[in-house]
Amino acid sequence: MIRYYAALALSLAALTAFAQNTSVQKNSVPEALAVSGADPANEPKLEHFDPNLADKTLDPCDDFYKYSCNKWLTANPIPADQVFWSTGSGLQLWNETALRDTLEAASKNDANRSAVQEEIGDYWAACMDESGIETAGLKPLQPELARIAALKSKKEMTLEIAHLHHLYPGAWQGGDNQSNSPLFGFASQQDFDKASLVVAAIDQGGLSLPNRDYYLKDDDKSKELLTKYRTHIQKMFVLAGETDSQAAADAGTVIEIETALAKAQMDNVRRRDPKNINNKMSLAQVRALTPSIDWDVYLKATKAPASDHYIVTSPDFFRAEEKLINDLPLDQWKTYMRWQVVHRSAPYLTKAFVDENFDFFARTMAGAQEQQPRWRRCVRAADRDLGEALGQAYVDRAFPPDSRARTLQMVHAIETSLSSDIQSLTWMSPATKQQAIVKLKGIEDKIGYPSHWRDYSSVKIVRDSYLNNVAQASSFEFERWVAKIGKPVDRSEWTMTPPTINAYYDPQLNTINFPAGILQPPFFDPAKDDAVNYGAIGMVIGHEIIHGFDDQGRKFDAHGNLADWWTADDAKQYDERGKCISDEYTQDVPEAGPGVKQNGLLTQGEDTADNGGIQLALAALEASLKQQGKSLDDKGDDGWTYRQRFFLSYAYSWCANIRPQIARVLVTTDPHSLPVFRIDNVVSNMPEFEQAFSCKAGQKMVRANACRVW
Ligand SMILES: [Zn+2]
Repeated sequence: MIRYYAALALSLAALTAFAQNTSVQKNSVPEALAVSGADPANEPKLEHFDPNLADKTLDPCDDFYKYSCNKWLTANPIPADQVFWSTGSGLQLWNETALRDTLEAASKNDANRSAVQEEIGDYWAACMDESGIETAGLKPLQPELARIAALKSKKEMTLEIAHLHHLYPGAWQGGDNQSNSPLFGFASQQDFDKASLVVAAIDQGGLSLPNRDYYLKDDDKSKELLTKYRTHIQKMFVLAGETDSQAAADAGTVIEIETALAKAQMDNVRRRDPKNINNKMSLAQVRALTPSIDWDVYLKATKAPASDHYIVTSPDFFRAEEKLINDLPLDQWKTYMRWQVVHRSAPYLTKAFVDENFDFFARTMAGAQEQQPRWRRCVRAADRDLGEALGQAYVDRAFPPDSRARTLQMVHAIETSLSSDIQSLTWMSPATKQQAIVKLKGIEDKIGYPSHWRDYSSVKIVRDSYLNNVAQASSFEFERWVAKIGKPVDRSEWTMTPPTINAYYDPQLNTINFPAGILQPPFFDPAKDDAVNYGAIGMVIGHEIIHGFDDQGRKFDAHGNLADWWTADDAKQYDERGKCISDEYTQDVPEAGPGVKQNGLLTQGEDTADNGGIQLALAALEASLKQQGKSLDDKGDDGWTYRQRFFLSYAYSWCANIRPQIARVLVTTDPHSLPVFRIDNVVSNMPEFEQAFSCKAGQKMVRANACRVW
């Protein structure tokens, strides 16, 4: 699948995972969870909004993020094993602790376990068995290295690539991010032009660093990092049994090949426009594009059903790759594939591999100082590999029906806000408005968890090989995606697991999806009133809905087809407003170091969703207060107006300490702006904020050229 949906954030789990390179109610949420034997710094603590956290020594109109977050940020430094620590991080730890309880209970070898408990419990036992993993040493790696050594021709590479795509989580996904696949990605996706059709998609891939910029930029910092990457590859090859000189030569080969592939990749800004990647080909055309890849062998090995056509995201990438396969000798390709095996297996092998992998990808690249406890890494791996089996217990424990009912009610209220907003727009014609309303009415709301749970019974989990279990789950997931080709679209599926602290809009399904994991404090707090909840989770809900109408989402219709429903003049009006946003966010990012600049064209969709989302949430709050005979500028019991508490709660839910190293990675790769900009840029575009804190023209939070799309 080309992951084309727009999420709320690079997820906290992903950020937490990045630190390890492990790929990634009336208060009815129980607060006290014991973390046996863990560092007290790792005590899970849910954060709850409190307006007294505002730092009244500061001026809200000068820097609202600082005003709202300063006290919290000072009191909550980043733990040594983290690269980022936010008001949501306590929830991340809480969710992981709840999952650990489930996994630990299921791992007790007891005859009464259900099939699901056996599966997740044995997975957990194998992951936590560090001494068993040490004893096995290089053994799990050897059959894979032997397969590569035995290859006799470049023609045989195709079958090996298909095998590697099966073995490792996300290794089939391609793209322009860290889950980049060996050589290329392959999956199913809904056709861009006819969303009811599921077709095969072939994507660029091939890298191990976060994206192409890491190989191509020639500033000192980038060059230094590439040198350190080379040393890392060398060390890993030595761990896998090579001599120093062999490993050094092999590291050079890997860098040479990955750099050539990086040069050929389409960049992440161009990939944001679906028209640039919607290249349809017949199988004959695909064969002609890359004669060195034996597609008949590949399609057979992946059990791919026949596809109506093939979407090749980036034909230029494949032209360059074809030439590269021809130009380089088989031995160099064997080195590249050996690197894929060693690199992607590392998190599941002995301590020496885990530590070296941590040292480069987490310490050097992201700024982590210490490894996270094993249990956290195992919880996230289980969530990734068997997430819907594990998620059922999480939902039972943490997501009561009244949370679901109240958040659904908020979703409906926010959808009503957008309907009113569309009707009242001065820049849009009646014809386009009518189409926009059709699209809005077509959005399906998915709250908490899927209507039916995925069946993992065919995944063969054992108690004595972690690497085997990861490979089994990964193969299952890959073939599950491939098997969809030619089948009817399954609208009920989720691409995030229930405990995930994130949310997404899927433009091809026209659905918004809020996992149970984010419908918790501080985002949704059952004990708090509407002003607090609309500021936090309400903005999140508005953000996802606006994704259907951001610069990408607006190109899809109510049915998920890439179809232009805009009049030419309205599209022009939209683009002018969008440009205001992308210009505003093309800005310096001192948090990531001197001279680092954000590309507003990369973040335009997310920034549009932030700016529109908060407007919708505020309008929904206003409507809700009106029903109670109140207004936004009335004061609540705590002396703050509802409008003030709304904005404070919004900012509070994004407070985050962040290491400069990971900030640099995010600015290069992540389509989301850093938290400080998700608050300050947004409120400075809003007269509604100016009114909340009586800000004056000329102050920093009052922007002279304010942007407004929705
Ligand atoms: Zn988003």
